[in-house]
Amino acid sequence: MSIFNTKNNPVRIAKRIVNALFPRHCVFCSLPSQRDYHVCHHCETLLPELKTACKCCGLSLPSNQSGLICGQCLKTPPHFDRTYALFPYQLPLSHLIKQMKFHHTLLYAELFGELICTQLNGWYDKEPLPQAILPVPLHQQRLRQRGYNQAIEIAKPIKHHCKLPLLKTICHRHRATQAQSDLKMNQRKQNIAGAFQTLAPLHYQHLAIIDDVMTTGHTVNELARVLKSAGVARVDVWCVARIQ
Ligand SMILES: [Zn+2]
Ligand SMILES: [Zn+2]
Repeated sequence: MSIFNTKNNPVRIAKRIVNALFPRHCVFCSLPSQRDYHVCHHCETLLPELKTACKCCGLSLPSNQSGLICGQCLKTPPHFDRTYALFPYQLPLSHLIKQMKFHHTLLYAELFGELICTQLNGWYDKEPLPQAILPVPLHQQRLRQRGYNQAIEIAKPIKHHCKLPLLKTICHRHRATQAQSDLKMNQRKQNIAGAFQTLAPLHYQHLAIIDDVMTTGHTVNELARVLKSAGVARVDVWCVARIQ
């Protein structure tokens, strides 16, 4: 059952009224979505699906290995414990992500946050949800250039709909790094090392990092390392798209 469909929820009732007055439109076909979020049922069925994946790093696995951990994670376990991705990094999602990230189309960030909310009951059907969400921090310089942190924009609907605390100030990116996408795979780990720092004591046992695209995983791995050294026991990653 979707978190959006929780019965007798006053927020849900208020949303129904707002949606009736101001219907949401599908970002793909522009028709009223007839739902609480910005994609209609038909267009959602056309989106690429993430098939069987390593439950630790989210990389694809053969279909008979559902729920397993890949050889790489077994050999060198990352600092994060789980990866949940909405989609593989493919069109049309890759286009939406670029629009969100580089062209201020924050409506797509809202949609991605909403879609993550719809998946949480499935992702956490056998275990408790993380206690709070932490968007991957941007360096101050990048934040000034872009004007927003897209990971925070994705996290806002999750905070709103799922009532999970959104941690924006407990950790920061104190070193300006080159964009990971500009670097070769083998340079990315070195580029991100030591980039994050916690600013306050962490009283959480279980956190989820929010990111837009997970490529090599070096960024979230470094952030998870810092969070764990600050006392967090378990760190999950929720991302919009996983590059396979
Ligand atoms: Zn549509
Ligand atoms: Zn793995």
